Amino acid sequence: MEEQDDHREQRKVDTSGAASRTPSPQSPTPLPVPYHNSLDPVRTSILAVLVGTCLTPAFAQRELSGSAQARLALDRLNVVGSVLMVAAHPDDENTALLAYLARGRKVRTGYLSLTRGEGGQNLIGAEQGDALGVIRTQELLAARRIDGAEQFFTRAVDFGFTKTPQETFEKWGREKILSDVVWVVRRFRPDVIILRFSGTPRDGHGQHQASAILGKEAFTAAADAKRFPEQLQWVQPWQAKRLMWNPGAFTKEQREEVEKMPNRIVVDPGDYDPVLGHSYNEIAGMSRSLHRSQGMGAAERKGSAKDFLITQAGPPATHDIFDGIDISWNRVTGGAAVGNIFAEAARTFDPGNPDRVVPLLLKAQKAMASLHQPLPDGKQKELSDAISLCSGLWLDATADKYAVTPGGGLKFEATALNRDHLAVQVKSIDIEGIASATGKNKFGEVLPFNEPKVFTLTATVPEHQPLSQPYWLVQPKQGDTYTIPNQIDVGLAENPPLFNAHFHLRIESEDVEVVRPVAYRYIERAQGELTRPVVVEPPVALQWSESAMLFPQKTDRTAKLQVKANIPKAAGEVRIQIPAGWQVSAKSEHFQLADAGEQNAISFQVTPPAGDGQGILEAGAKVGDQNVSTEMQTINYPHIPPQVLFPQATAKLVRSDVRLLPKTIGYVMGAGDEMPQALQQMGAEVMLLGADELASGNLSRFDAIVTGVRSYNVRADLRANQNRLMDYVKNGGTVVVQYNVADGPNPFGGDTTLLANIGPYPLTTGRERVTVEEAPIQFPNPASPLLHQPNEITARDFDGWIQERGLYFASKWDDHYQPLFETHDPEQKPQTGSTLYTRYGKGAYVFTALSWFRELPAGVPGAFRIFANLLSAGKTQ
Ligand SMILES: [Zn+2]
Repeated sequence: MEEQDDHREQRKVDTSGAASRTPSPQSPTPLPVPYHNSLDPVRTSILAVLVGTCLTPAFAQRELSGSAQARLALDRLNVVGSVLMVAAHPDDENTALLAYLARGRKVRTGYLSLTRGEGGQNLIGAEQGDALGVIRTQELLAARRIDGAEQFFTRAVDFGFTKTPQETFEKWGREKILSDVVWVVRRFRPDVIILRFSGTPRDGHGQHQASAILGKEAFTAAADAKRFPEQLQWVQPWQAKRLMWNPGAFTKEQREEVEKMPNRIVVDPGDYDPVLGHSYNEIAGMSRSLHRSQGMGAAERKGSAKDFLITQAGPPATHDIFDGIDISWNRVTGGAAVGNIFAEAARTFDPGNPDRVVPLLLKAQKAMASLHQPLPDGKQKELSDAISLCSGLWLDATADKYAVTPGGGLKFEATALNRDHLAVQVKSIDIEGIASATGKNKFGEVLPFNEPKVFTLTATVPEHQPLSQPYWLVQPKQGDTYTIPNQIDVGLAENPPLFNAHFHLRIESEDVEVVRPVAYRYIERAQGELTRPVVVEPPVALQWSESAMLFPQKTDRTAKLQVKANIPKAAGEVRIQIPAGWQVSAKSEHFQLADAGEQNAISFQVTPPAGDGQGILEAGAKVGDQNVSTEMQTINYPHIPPQVLFPQATAKLVRSDVRLLPKTIGYVMGAGDEMPQALQQMGAEVMLLGADELASGNLSRFDAIVTGVRSYNVRADLRANQNRLMDYVKNGGTVVVQYNVADGPNPFGGDTTLLANIGPYPLTTGRERVTVEEAPIQFPNPASPLLHQPNEITARDFDGWIQERGLYFASKWDDHYQPLFETHDPEQKPQTGSTLYTRYGKGAYVFTALSWFRELPAGVPGAFRIFANLLSAGKTQ
């Protein structure tokens, strides 16, 4: 990732309201999306390659892509095979192989990632969990638009790193996720299934092993009508012809190991594609680089690069992945005639006159319609898109806004532009979706040459239309799986568009139907013309200023609820529900907002119970006859289309005695976390430190300075001012350093190494982590002041942690450091490198790789108490 400058300047953390909830290092203003988030997935997928090929997303290059795009579409029409790759996470996929198959071999290609990668670390912002899963979903879709594959998921949630498939299956439910893999196989009907992993400890991550174990089982289970028979009301059993393993071979040893394996074939994604102007490996580099939240920026490697595929089941392949598999139209009864027409279209294609193949394509459409068996998946749409492409047609459907409230109205424009000389009539246009659209339009005229013809329609969204929450987040999770009530949704990458426009055309003498999703099209001044999906939003959105409220003493605190209007003249009442034992100053409040976009903060005094306690504070609003109970979170990054989530408007209330000695804390934000808000809850004033402050500011006015997660990886200014920071400790300050990624190939770009020492004495960051959040804790130095002052720490303070204990523990350290905790996963050696403490000069230094960035924002009381002691270290010797 690139260094982020936005947060460099020192600024006080804003606690006034909702806006302070996510201190992302990204700019808070909506960021633009790249052009290739366009309306038409098929057209866009090819455009994206070519736009990406030219490396600048300029408008002109879209126009230049026409013939290459048509060439690809024609070649692909005459190929009927399919391949499904299966692995566990966003980034496990072999993008070079996907690009080779989809762009080179022109087969239908899919990637089934069991999870959406919710459990990883976010390198570009503070989003975690559900929101990170949404970002990674969109990153995969953006990657697929470049490499040409399709994307699928199961209900499995990435719950974080695990060492065994057993733990994975316990958390997911083996049968449940197997049924999803079977379901995707039965729907996609691949000729070949490719596993990325072996199902053995060679794969590392337990979820990797699980993906291969389930993939192997699904190969046979999908064909067995007795397995998951409830699916057969929608799909048929499916026997893929071959199961293959595409082993990672990154080191010399692994390569030698793979080269000795029997039943091995070689493919070369380093092959150059003259139509695309790139090898598939280069395309893979572009595709992979879209995994930005994981820092997967990759080289566009040139030249031969071999990949290995090993048959695991089915007849062994000896030369080619499709050995013995007919991927031509001959496999379809009566299909040979269709194939012949497509072959002729491809052979006679003239890049200067693409319309000359349209009669052949119309003939193929007729021939396809006369076949007596179902068409190969996707071919009908591929053909109608190829016809409109070669006809020089621009067909587009837009809405007048990107968000509509239940009961609200939308205006649509459907545009047809004939840029060639074929006789094209628009016979009718239907817009189908969550409401029916109507309009008075005159149809049936032959489209004039190069003059856009705009048809207008309107629709009213139903009063009780559900909000556009991503479908897998609508209902609460069941443990580590999503709850998806409609089987037909399982596997989908994202919500389908709210509306699709169906253009019923007559081209020459044939009827052709072309479908376009309806999007909102707009101009972003810095980026140009962009689109984004249309969503249903509530009339008002609610948000508590803090997602978890800590009450460190038995005194009241003010809870602020932001009410933001999405419609003009929004008025109504908010209602508060408070858990038993807690009290609130008012149970309801009236609000009135004049304009859309306006917001108002309503304050409530919350009184905690006498003893320790936790509960959930809920908010709801009634606007007219609509009930609202959600927040509205917009995720904006330049590499994905804007995404909107509607989490429940709740805040966790936590009453626990937490004493903190420092009054002012400086925070060096790293890759992005929500720690500054959490530190404020303990009663400290928190300032974000920018480059100037680190270089020349008066650090001595801070009682403690904390470095955010991975700040040494991403902030050159922090590395540059390490001596000043250590002088600050020497003079009596306290520095607390959170985890950084160890030396070695640095996945984060920029400098490839951390500093030799991130502490006052030698200390090496390693790769050990403890992934079980309940892992037992010992205290190797029970007399350490950090365990007793100002809070008395016991093993109970490690109860209720989420996801993990910590990651990237220190591997080696000088004797000056005192380890505070010992913890380990099952079958892992005891780890004492999670938290190290030393005095230095008059001050104190603490290195701590426990997952504070998860536990504090989640309101884990023990985590607050321990972290308060770390912050207080300079004052408690
Ligand atoms: Zn993985």
